[in-house]
Amino acid sequence: MDNEHYFCMMKCFLRKKIGDRVINGHPWIFGNELGDSEGTAEPGDIVEVYSYNGSFVGKGYINPASQIRIRLLTREKSDVIDDRFFFNRIKQAWDYRKQIGYTENCRLVFGEADQLPALIIDKFNDYFVIQSLALGIEKWKHAIVSAINEIFKPKGIYERNDVPVRTLEGMEQIKGFLSEPFDTNIIINENGLKFNVDIENGQKTGYFLDQQDNRRAIQHVVNGGDVLEAFCYTGTFSLHAAQYGAKSTLGLDISENAVAAARRNAELNGYSDICKFQAVNAFDVLKLWVKEGKRYDTVILDPPAFTKSRENIDKAVTGYKEINLRGMKLVKPGGFLVTASCTNLVSPELYLKTIDMAAKDAKRNLRQVAWLTQSADHPILWHVPSTQYLKFLIVQVM
Ligand code: SAH
Repeated sequence: MDNEHYFCMMKCFLRKKIGDRVINGHPWIFGNELGDSEGTAEPGDIVEVYSYNGSFVGKGYINPASQIRIRLLTREKSDVIDDRFFFNRIKQAWDYRKQIGYTENCRLVFGEADQLPALIIDKFNDYFVIQSLALGIEKWKHAIVSAINEIFKPKGIYERNDVPVRTLEGMEQIKGFLSEPFDTNIIINENGLKFNVDIENGQKTGYFLDQQDNRRAIQHVVNGGDVLEAFCYTGTFSLHAAQYGAKSTLGLDISENAVAAARRNAELNGYSDICKFQAVNAFDVLKLWVKEGKRYDTVILDPPAFTKSRENIDKAVTGYKEINLRGMKLVKPGGFLVTASCTNLVSPELYLKTIDMAAKDAKRNLRQVAWLTQSADHPILWHVPSTQYLKFLIVQVM
């Protein structure tokens, strides 16, 4: 047995007749794409992947319990997957964020897009929130935390692994400190405003950084107007609207906690008189207000994903159509609709088609102002389509 073989790890061979997705750079290998193998591996171990004819493809981690059997970490045969490897990847991710101008707050690591599949790290100034969503990356959590400590000397690191997808990998859902305990209610700066972020109990990692550029994009469609923001969470769009000169804003969210946080954010920025919030079901309230003939200069919609699975795309499309139909009807002629969708399961094309259907039903014509996506600290890989997930549209509703 040669040395390399001795030290290494399981070798997995791709089947001959599979698509070219993996060869073209996609890091996921599904169980049905794998043929022969040599050696054995524990769940979460690093394995080597070869094509059916024996040419090297890459190294990644394996989990027999997961439909995504292997996620590749590298295509370089000489790369050694050790603590230093993770340090370098995180350092590269940070250098990239700095280069494109995201420093105080950013998604530092966006999984596949940073060649660290299933790893999410959000940076909120001196605090870091981690999600490790696959067994093979969970095993390197210690190295990941060490790298963050070494690069940033942070004030705190927290894991928000209370995420259902972890069960698909056979992992428990947990949350807690990965540093000395700290006060998990922090304040971040964004576009000249301040926002409370509840790292421990907020949604996802506590704050939606992916909309940070889009919040600036509403600047010219809210000035002097009455603004309605449905699905407002902690009121970020409402507060931006106030800052950009809105006369009044009303934010709606079904979560009492979110509305309480939104009110705290209004207070923190001195906009309590302009920004009001209500804890209600937006679907019901919008329907009622359409009937009552209420009208706003600008309506902002940022609903939740509506679906987590491919089988339910129809349900999601119905949800998007319904809520946008109601939203449009609430816009005064010549006012604006700002609308978003945060699931990769609904493609940009399908989303635009859905908005178009809603406009036809509402008998309104749309004039496109802006058609955007997630902020650039959530990079989109053209060969990994699921990395594009956020759609953000501003239209004038004629
Ligand atoms: N725009 C926000 C993020 C919104 S996330 C930001 O940039 O921070 C979607 C929000 O919709 C969540 O806060 C969730 O509580 C809320 N939500 C889900 N279903 C709802 C419903 N039926 N009515 C009102 N809000 C709802």
